[in-house]
Amino acid sequence: MAKKEEGLECSFCGRKKAETDLLIAGMDAHICDKCIEQAHGIVLEETAELATKQLVPDFKLKKPREIKEFLDLYIIGQDDTKKSMSVAVYNHYKRIFQKTDDENEVEIEKSNIILVGDTGTGKTLVAKTIAKMLSVPFAIVDATVLTQAGYVGEDVESILTRLLQAADYDLKKAEKGIVFIDEIDKIARKGDNPSITRDVSGEGVQQALLKLLEGTLVNVPPKGGRKHPEQKFIEVDTKDILFVAGGAFSGIDRIISKRLNRQAVGYSASISDDRIDEDNLLQYIVPADLRAFGLIPEIIGRLPVLSYMNPLDAKTLRAILTEPKNSIIKQYTKLFAIDDVEFTIDKKALDFIVEKAVEYKLGARGLRSLCEVILTDAMFELPSSDEKKLHVTKSYAEGKLTKTTLKKLRAAS
Ligand code: ADP
Repeated sequence: MAKKEEGLECSFCGRKKAETDLLIAGMDAHICDKCIEQAHGIVLEETAELATKQLVPDFKLKKPREIKEFLDLYIIGQDDTKKSMSVAVYNHYKRIFQKTDDENEVEIEKSNIILVGDTGTGKTLVAKTIAKMLSVPFAIVDATVLTQAGYVGEDVESILTRLLQAADYDLKKAEKGIVFIDEIDKIARKGDNPSITRDVSGEGVQQALLKLLEGTLVNVPPKGGRKHPEQKFIEVDTKDILFVAGGAFSGIDRIISKRLNRQAVGYSASISDDRIDEDNLLQYIVPADLRAFGLIPEIIGRLPVLSYMNPLDAKTLRAILTEPKNSIIKQYTKLFAIDDVEFTIDKKALDFIVEKAVEYKLGARGLRSLCEVILTDAMFELPSSDEKKLHVTKSYAEGKLTKTTLKKLRAAS
């Protein structure tokens, strides 16, 4: 019997039983521990690749132009940003699909994105719409709540907790997701000199974010926070997660203006050909401006795609009301239709809503609040009445929007 066992070998690699730690017998063959391990690795690799392909099955078909066309359905204007986002997202997913078995192959770096623009100009919307197009998990986090590890507040790992939650704890999906980091400008270094006392919520957080943005393995508490010390950590690889950071960077226009003026002195001839649009200086933003604002160079380097959002003028606000695929007015029409109520609204009433949004500086978010105020009574009454039509005229809207309500809305915005 012992003699017979000695003659056994792995049917895959040919190792003798004595050369293995374990040799498992099948019907007519044997397999050793080393081959099992190797086979297991192959299974993991193949299924991961399959999962990626299943996750975004038709992604390869979407070229930057098509991505932008999708964004156009939901986002009015902001063409420069939509264009650079489309290219960045295309390159990002191309990079994920690219095989890097060959060590000599050029490695494509991540194309994380930073969007600069006033609050309410659509930064979150752009990131969210991309995630919708790709059907990948999407999480929004607020940079202001993040602090350096060990301090009161949330550790940067909490960002990944959110993403895991958005992916229903499907790790593979989360690792291909998109994270929007809002208010990145709030973790800028205060003042030009690195302070001697620790800057808990500023530079320290920027430092903590670096690795995450670049791609690393992070132990993530699945329930987040420090309240559940018993929870097992999940190891999340961030190398294929796309990070989009956004911020208003209020005051950065002065930095841009100063730089442009300095340049103008040096290149006085060219500046007269290329007149500067003083009303929208953000369009000239370059990474050096972010640095002057207080982002550390390493963070800027890891957010290589920089774009800006245009302020929303009355024409854009008017278009936002009715044109996007899920515009506010289309949403109300649908809500009423569920109760068999036919909802229509005059052009003049729409113009009036925009006028008030501009007058009270309510921005795009304010459009929704204005509509809500105008339509609340109807939404309350109509479901229990026989009236099956609602036509909103300018005077109807005026009747619902008192000065006090408008002031309240402004205070809340
Ligand atoms: P930000 O992230 O820049 O503060 P959001 O993306 O949250 O702004 O925008 C707030 C809301 O305003 C969006 O949910 C959307 O309804 C509307 N909105 C803003 N900009 C646009 C736009 N360019 N096109 C369509 N809707 C917009």
